[in-house]
Amino acid sequence: MSLLKNRLLLFLCIVCVLPIVNLGGCKKSESLSSYSLNATYHEGALDGKLRYKFVNRYDTAFDHVDFNLHANAYCENSTTKPVTDNNLARAYPNGLSYGGIEILKVEILNQNAEFDIFGDSNCFLRVKTPTVYQGETVEIDIAFKTSIPNSKLRLGENAYAVNLADFFPTACYVKDGGFLQIPYSPFGDPYLSEISDYSVNLTVPSEFTVASCGKPTQTLVEELTTTYSYELKSARDFAFVLSKDFKVFSQNHDDVTVNYYSFSDDGESYLKTAISALEFFSKNFGDYPYQTLSLAETGFLFGGMEFSSLCYISTELEKEEKQNAIAHEIAHQWWHGGVSNDQYNSAYIDEGLAEFSAFLFFENSSLELANEMISNAKHAYKSFFDLQSVLSGNVDTTMERPLSTFKSEYEYANLSYNKSLLMFYEYYSKFGKNKTLSALKKLYSDNYGREITRAEIIKAFGRADHFNSFVDGKVII
Ligand SMILES: [Zn+2]
Repeated sequence: MSLLKNRLLLFLCIVCVLPIVNLGGCKKSESLSSYSLNATYHEGALDGKLRYKFVNRYDTAFDHVDFNLHANAYCENSTTKPVTDNNLARAYPNGLSYGGIEILKVEILNQNAEFDIFGDSNCFLRVKTPTVYQGETVEIDIAFKTSIPNSKLRLGENAYAVNLADFFPTACYVKDGGFLQIPYSPFGDPYLSEISDYSVNLTVPSEFTVASCGKPTQTLVEELTTTYSYELKSARDFAFVLSKDFKVFSQNHDDVTVNYYSFSDDGESYLKTAISALEFFSKNFGDYPYQTLSLAETGFLFGGMEFSSLCYISTELEKEEKQNAIAHEIAHQWWHGGVSNDQYNSAYIDEGLAEFSAFLFFENSSLELANEMISNAKHAYKSFFDLQSVLSGNVDTTMERPLSTFKSEYEYANLSYNKSLLMFYEYYSKFGKNKTLSALKKLYSDNYGREITRAEIIKAFGRADHFNSFVDGKVII
């Protein structure tokens, strides 16, 4: 995600299926887990059917699969709100509005399956399955209905567009033999997902233009509706932006189709920025992980938001802020898409890497913007530190902690964006461009398709002392 800066907080698939053995609903497979989703959008709501194929790639047997129901964070009685109180008026310009997800039916092999909705804000779904041993799979069919709030959030209808993220059940991440239940958060990106394959059909009233993750494979026009089909391999998530007013600017760059969805003719120049960033990051980090890249302007509270091969870009941004958000969100295609991390417990990793990647891009294309990024980050961080010192006399400057432990969005942003950018920038200043770029390339190639921690950063960059002093809050800036 990118923040509104200057008002800175002011504001592959191995289809090698082993001999198939039917074991009480479970089959052996070595492929990735996959989502087959059919969804129909109507104003204010979306009806969906999901078939999730869970591939047990772990040395533990499971008798259930847990899913995130992120849409329930948007409910009226949610205890894990999608926005802070300070941002309520901007998030809901037409007054408070609510969403949620209703689970209508869960089946395995056409038989009703037992399920339970649980956790903070009913944000989790547990589906009981036959025992799934290592290397086996189970397919779970879930019918659901999602209500969409009138808002400028990840899930929301606004004056510009319909933001469709957080709208379908997504599998919880498996760690230490169990499914992690990561709570939603009013700030930051409360996500962690393993790479999966997606096959998605979305039906919308025909007057809408659809910006989507993935490669379009088919379009079916009926009397009043159009169904768009997409494929996306080895991805972290799937989202859409729908609008009746989009102007679409597209260009092929190498083997990637780049689309910029705008509300003005300025989209042409932002498409150029996007292609330059795609080219720069591909050359310096490694191959772009997908076949398409779409950026969609929309009413959005923050500067932007990353999904695999799709980025939201806020209509509220000024020109320079928009260029910054475009570079930042495209960098996330490497640092979240290709190589991910626990965005709830170590947000500084992908946010710091995305900020630093944007800095490197601007250093190569617009030195003034690059210098401004560093001076703004230093100034903002120092102001944060001084203010907190005066207020509490004791500032927690550690970076690796759950979103719920940050006292405010202001503290989160300064530690996860500004301080983390400065951590990579100080390394770059001390050890040089060649060493830094080699480290970024190594970090990407060694970890593609996986999730990284501080240990992998230190392995790629070296200088454990440098990174530990920043992350553990011992360095003085
Ligand atoms: Zn970000």
